[in-house]
Formats: sequence, structure tokens, C-alpha cells
Amino acid sequence: MSNAQNIVILGGSFAGLSVAHYFLKHILPTLPKNNGASYHVYLIDSSTHYYWRIAAPRALVGKDMIQQDKMFLPIADGFKQYDSSIFTFIQATATSMDTNARTVTIEHASNSESQTLPYHALVIATGTRTPSPLLSLQGDYKITQNALQEMRGKLSSAKTIVIAGGGPAGVETAGEIGEALNGVAGFFQSRPANPKAKITLLSGSTKLLPMLRPALAKQAEVYLNRVGVDVVHNAKMQSVDSAGAQTLIHLDNGSTLEADIYIPATGVTPNSAFVPANLKTDKGYVKTNGKTLRVDEAGPRVYAAGDVGSYTRGGVMDIYDAIPVVLTNIKRDLQHAATAGASSPSPNNNNNNNNEKQSELAGNAPGSDRTYKANLKETQLVPVGRSKGVGAVFGWKLPTLMVYMIKGRNYMIDNAVTLQRGTKWEKEDGWKPTDA
Ligand SMILES: Cc1cc2nc3c(=O)[nH]c(=O)nc-3n(C[C@H](O)[C@H](O)[C@H](O)COP(=O)(O)OP(=O)(O)OC[C@H]3O[C@@H](n4cnc5c(N)ncnc54)[C@H](O)[C@@H]3O)c2cc1C
Repeated sequence: MSNAQNIVILGGSFAGLSVAHYFLKHILPTLPKNNGASYHVYLIDSSTHYYWRIAAPRALVGKDMIQQDKMFLPIADGFKQYDSSIFTFIQATATSMDTNARTVTIEHASNSESQTLPYHALVIATGTRTPSPLLSLQGDYKITQNALQEMRGKLSSAKTIVIAGGGPAGVETAGEIGEALNGVAGFFQSRPANPKAKITLLSGSTKLLPMLRPALAKQAEVYLNRVGVDVVHNAKMQSVDSAGAQTLIHLDNGSTLEADIYIPATGVTPNSAFVPANLKTDKGYVKTNGKTLRVDEAGPRVYAAGDVGSYTRGGVMDIYDAIPVVLTNIKRDLQHAATAGASSPSPNNNNNNNNEKQSELAGNAPGSDRTYKANLKETQLVPVGRSKGVGAVFGWKLPTLMVYMIKGRNYMIDNAVTLQRGTKWEKEDGWKPTDA
């Protein structure tokens, strides 16, 4: 029987891919191999492909607008560089976890069969979902691919479009659809001359883009008008129902809008249905120690990374800041566990003796942890159509040309492969306890 200790990572997107590559490249080689101990990484995702959802607003208006083979990348291909004795990708959905038995149960996509996987260390990186499958994965990537395809077909004949949500996803989506259907206003014009469709964006608030200062939000609204998008403030979608081919959008101010296409971009819900209730906040995020990124109440060596964790307000920059922290603490905890003789419960033996249980519960490494500090400065880039955009980085406002060059040109699609293959994490972000 193999005595490999399972390192289980749930979710294979921005956070989960980063954790897996960083662990395999920099942490695993440093772990003590006492008495022949070894480690095996299991990366679990409901989808075979990871989705560069950042580019969704442009991809939904035209297949050739963003290279599809760069938007959906096969997870397994990025891990061919590692030996199969240390890494396995499984297309499956986590359905429950048991912090006493230290197991997660997964349902395989291929045959719907359940498997219970013991973990020595567990990273929860299952992210969030949007109401629309256009903007995030909702199972296998083909669901999203089909939704994008269907949307492109519908847009070609749509005359009325309503988008709910004044955050970046709503603004970017409205901008892309506006420019694709209505074109751009000419010089000294504020609106396109011959708009093809009436496009309405419900901000759901008094302004667009809550993370940006009012002047930038106002500028985004001007750019939206230039591609024929009307912004409606102070009205939220309350419910929707269909009337034949039309969607009726009932607003909280009592009025109703009718649309050929309705796109909800009204925020996200954490993918945490499998996580026990005591480990979740009232909004469903995994309760994470905001400094160490451990899930303290789940027992030793359980961590959260990415948008599913309560420690973050979300976003890829936050993930990139968190990865070296969570991986340093995993490394320290695993080295400590190895020294203390901890091992994961054997899948073939439910009556582990007390010594094994005790050492499994060896706990966190003593000494200083590496700590995470959220960057709360105004940072967000929001393209509005194909050549304009608003944004700020660390509190510094960026000109529209910079927003275009950094993000609006192609929604940073070339970075997708660096996560898939782990080249983003080629170097370890070094840290010594004295840095604490
Ligand atoms: C339209 C849009 C545009 C965005 N643009 C930007 C941007 O420009 N800059 C930026 O910083 N951020 C942006 N974001 C936010 C960014 O996409 C997220 O911060 C990022 O995707 C979070 O990564 P993650 O790995 O935590 O989770 P996710 O990307 O949400 O991925 C979660 C993964 O877990 C899998 N999964 C879910 N549940 C289970 C389960 N039970 N079992 C197994 N697997 C599961 C999913 O299939 C998925 O692969 C944007 C978001 C949207 C929607």
C-alpha cells in the first residue's frame, strides 16, 4: 500500500492552478521524506478546462474577438511536466467534506460515481459563480462555451437588451455589446448616429463601478453612452419572467422593462455548497484566517485560496498576493507534521490508532507564519468597448490609453497560459521567518 500523503486542491482556476504549480515546483521538493514518506497532489475541478473569464465580455459578442483556444485551456495539459507518481487531475465535483475523518467526497464527471478522498492537507479554491454561465463556469466548460455561442446568435437579431449590474462585469459587457451592435459616436457626438439596439444597463446603485472614484464612474458612463448604452441608476432588478421570446425585468421602483436579451451581471455566489455550515460566513464564503489563510476551524492543514475565501474582496491581484503566503504556511505546516510523524488517515483502515490520530492533529507549525495583507487601494481596470476604458492602479488614475494597452486590447488573454502551465510561478517568492 502506498504511504503517499494526499495534498488535495479543490478548484483548478486562477487560485487552484497557482497552488498546484507552486506546490509541485517549490514546496514538494523541500519536504522531508522520513521513512520513505511521499506526497501526492490531487487537483479536482468540475471542468476539464479552465476559463479565462476575464475575457468573457468580449468573447460573448463574437467568436473571433478573443482566441477561443486561449480562453479555455485543458487543465491536465499544464501538468504533463510532472511525474504521474506525484500528480493527478480528476474531473469531479466536491460534494461534501468531513473535517473529523479528514476526507472530501467528490463526484466524478465521467460516471457520477462518488469517491471519498482522505487529505493530509486540503486547499479550498472553488471560487465563485455568476448568475449567468457566460461569465463563470457552472460545471464543465462546455456549458459556458455553448452559452457564449447561443448569445452570439441571439445578439445578431436583438433589438432590446438589458444588463443588470453596475460592477466591472456589467459595464464591460454593456460596452462590448454596445460597440458591436451600435458602433461608436462620431467626433463631437455623444451617441452613435444609427444605433441598432436599445441597450440599458441597470447600475443598481447611485453610480457605476463601486470600487472606483465617482469621476471615473462618470467617465465610464460617458463612454457607454458613446456606444449607445443608457445607464439607469437607483433601480434594481427584482425578478424576471418570460413572455414568449421576451424577458420581463421587474424593477424595485415598480416599473418593468421588456427585452429580447437579459444578462444578469449582479455579483457572485461562492461555490461552497460542499463545505460544512460552521466553516462558512453568512454569505457562504469559507471562514479564513485573514493573516495565515488557514481555515482555522477545520483542523490542521486546511487552507482557502482565491475568491471563495472570506479573507479577500476578490480579484486576481489578490490571488497573486495570497499564493506565496498560503504556500509558505503549507510548507511550514507540512514540515512540522513530517517531523511530528503525522500522516493522513488510511483509506483502508477506519480504525486508525490513537497515535496516528494524535500525530495527524499535530497542528500548525510553531513560530512565525507568513502573513497576508490585503491591498485595499483603488485598483481596477475597466475597458468600455474596444478602445476606451477607465481605471486606477494603487490609487493612481490611469489614462484611457493605458487601460486599453493593459487590458482592453485583448483582456490579457496571453496570461491564461502562464497559469495553465505554471510559468507564472517559475520562481519561489522567498521568505524567512525574520520577515514576519
Ligand atoms: C466577467 C468577469 C471579469 C473579471 N475581470 C477581472 C479582472 O479584469 N481582473 C481581476 O483581477 N479579476 C477579474 N474578475 C474576477 C476573477 O475572475 C476572479 O477573481 C477569479 O476568477 C477567482 O479565481 P478563483 O480561482 O478563486 O475561482 P474561480 O475562477 O471562480 O474558479 C473556481 C473553479 O472551481 C471549480 N469548482 C467550483 N465548485 C467546485 C466543486 N464543488 N468541486 C470542484 N471544482 C469546483 C470551477 O469549475 C472553477 O474552475 C472577473 C470576473 C468576472 C466574472
